Amino acid sequence: MRQWQSLKVSNDLLYRIYENEDTGPHFQLVTPHAMRREIMHQLHNVRTAGHLGREKTLNRIKARFYWPGMTDDVSRWCQSCMSCQKRKPGPGLGKSPMQHCTVYGPMECIAIDILGPLPTTDDGNRYIMVVGDYFSKWSEAYALRQHTAQTVADKLVTEFICRFGTPTRIHTDHGPEFESHLFARMCKLLDIEKSRTTPYHPQSDGMVERYNRTFGNDASNVCLGKQG
Ligand SMILES: [Zn+2]
Repeated sequence: MRQWQSLKVSNDLLYRIYENEDTGPHFQLVTPHAMRREIMHQLHNVRTAGHLGREKTLNRIKARFYWPGMTDDVSRWCQSCMSCQKRKPGPGLGKSPMQHCTVYGPMECIAIDILGPLPTTDDGNRYIMVVGDYFSKWSEAYALRQHTAQTVADKLVTEFICRFGTPTRIHTDHGPEFESHLFARMCKLLDIEKSRTTPYHPQSDGMVERYNRTFGNDASNVCLGKQG
């Protein structure tokens, strides 16, 4: 309520008048919750935004948008950005191993893992591809005959992304299907960040591996779908 004086409605949209010391007053769109992640993504992560630091990203967002708690939200967003973390020099080999996957919403980070080879089913499937969302812990499993870059990327796009949307980041191990040119191209086209477990810290992918242990125990009872 103390901001009442600085609020204004224009074209049915609510604005806040922001007094910038350098550039004078301007209008900030009071941003609904549902739009905030997209704004931070567009003004920090995309190629034209260029992953600027916390301060610059915040100023850029403040130039057009306002929401309560935006300073904290933008700080957390920049801190948990994988691309920014990877560029920062760390101990040892120059990159800090990723030990925590900090996520603030569904589809911010998904993990993919391949389980198998298992006994071949009547449909010729021998592998299970597990795709899990770190935030919601929702996991999907798909039957595959093989786990080439082509089959894995195809399953991911046609079965997972088409139904749940495009994730911000995909976390995998060092499997050749994930290291492939094709998989990298797919990520680039869909503007998805790619991160990997480090060989020294394979436990960092605990989520899907835990799922696989549970799932693997029951694999013989699972009715696999049609061929992958
Ligand atoms: Zn970044």
